[in-house]
Amino acid sequence: MNPAPADLVISNCTALIHPDPDETDPQLAADSIEFRPNVTLVIRDGVIADVIAEVADSAASAPAAAERIDARGLVALPGFVNCHTHSPMVALRGLVEDRPEQEWFNDWIWPIESNLTSRIVELGARLACAEMIRGGVTCFADHYFAMDTVADVVAETGLRANLGEAFFSSQGPEGRERSLDFALRRRGSAGGRITTSLAPHAPYTVDDADLTATAELAREHGLLVHLHAAENRAQTDTSLARHGRTPIDVLKDTGLLDVDLLIAHGTGILDRDLPALRAATGRIGVASAPRGYLKFGWDTTPVRALVDAGVHVGLATDGAASNNTLDVWEAMTLTALVQKRTERDPRWLTARQALRHATLDSARAVGLGASIGSLAPGRRADLVLVDLSGPHTQPVHDLTATLVHSARSHDVRTTIVDGRVLMRGGRLTTVDVPSVAGELSELLPALVERGHGRRIQEYDT
Ligand SMILES: [Zn+2]
Repeated sequence: MNPAPADLVISNCTALIHPDPDETDPQLAADSIEFRPNVTLVIRDGVIADVIAEVADSAASAPAAAERIDARGLVALPGFVNCHTHSPMVALRGLVEDRPEQEWFNDWIWPIESNLTSRIVELGARLACAEMIRGGVTCFADHYFAMDTVADVVAETGLRANLGEAFFSSQGPEGRERSLDFALRRRGSAGGRITTSLAPHAPYTVDDADLTATAELAREHGLLVHLHAAENRAQTDTSLARHGRTPIDVLKDTGLLDVDLLIAHGTGILDRDLPALRAATGRIGVASAPRGYLKFGWDTTPVRALVDAGVHVGLATDGAASNNTLDVWEAMTLTALVQKRTERDPRWLTARQALRHATLDSARAVGLGASIGSLAPGRRADLVLVDLSGPHTQPVHDLTATLVHSARSHDVRTTIVDGRVLMRGGRLTTVDVPSVAGELSELLPALVERGHGRRIQEYDT
């Protein structure tokens, strides 16, 4: 045992362990998680230095530490990863409901987004970070505008994030150049907690030449590409009718399947797309955000076919304007339920698989599978402690079932990123929510004004 005091020791927890955290084949790894009782987690320099299992009273035998948490009765999980969101859109939470996506974009969201100010982006991102810390999310992949502001908020609130400055071809080459400039300037910042992506909006708003150039830049600079593609079936059908190609064909033709790629949604991915995904030479992730699909009346992401094709399927919330919450726990529960219904198979997408998607597979999807997603020595100390003593989670016959189908995000008591406690016993340590929410509500009347007739883009897939 290392004689130097640890920075943080968490003792007496039951811990979710991935027995094969380095197995990269999604099919082989799909079901493999286990729980170990009486675990001590030793954290040094933001890293899990040791996972000591099966100590009868681990508090007594744990190494010396600057800070200790006695987690008796709590379950330690790797922090959840939100693989696709637009964090500042919490400012539009619940503004427009019960409409199809064309109307939602063209009459509401894109006109209103022409009113965005950097102060609204900042307050929205801060509120989003608070919501995610509260709900046990330790890392998120964000795809939006004014991302320098979001990066500053990530640095301040302590979360981990992969950030991409979104662009449309309608902005000219400057859009892509800004996205690259942001990605190169901010990657590795916030003590290494920020990684970055190139972020074209979608194949229907970014042309083939721009997508091809993006793939070349991603290869040259070793960057992830994060975009929306095959968001729904109608979009795939329109792409086929107009261009004779599916959105996945477009990604293949422009070289994006040969770089590391994070695809948001993919609910319109067809069987004919699977060979291209299977043959991809880049690491392909798909972020699935089932709540929004249910609201828009869409099909859901074909998780089983994608896992079979070697794709890493992560969980996500999308922005709160469509999804209402940034609750990855809810996305996990809904994924398990919706997948059973979609496949007409109660044996598919078990609670174990759902936990695996929310943790290690999500980490892989955002390109961080080697550093987070699992409670294993050498990985960054991103974890949450969950309290299952509530009446809605008792008794516990099977921890996986209790976590996925009975527990809720508000059962998370403590959230830790890079060894730093961002929520302790339900209390946030880095965000003052009343002050953020108060200032944001004063800015809402100017934000939601649509009388000017402008919009940032036209939704026409
Ligand atoms: Zn999105």
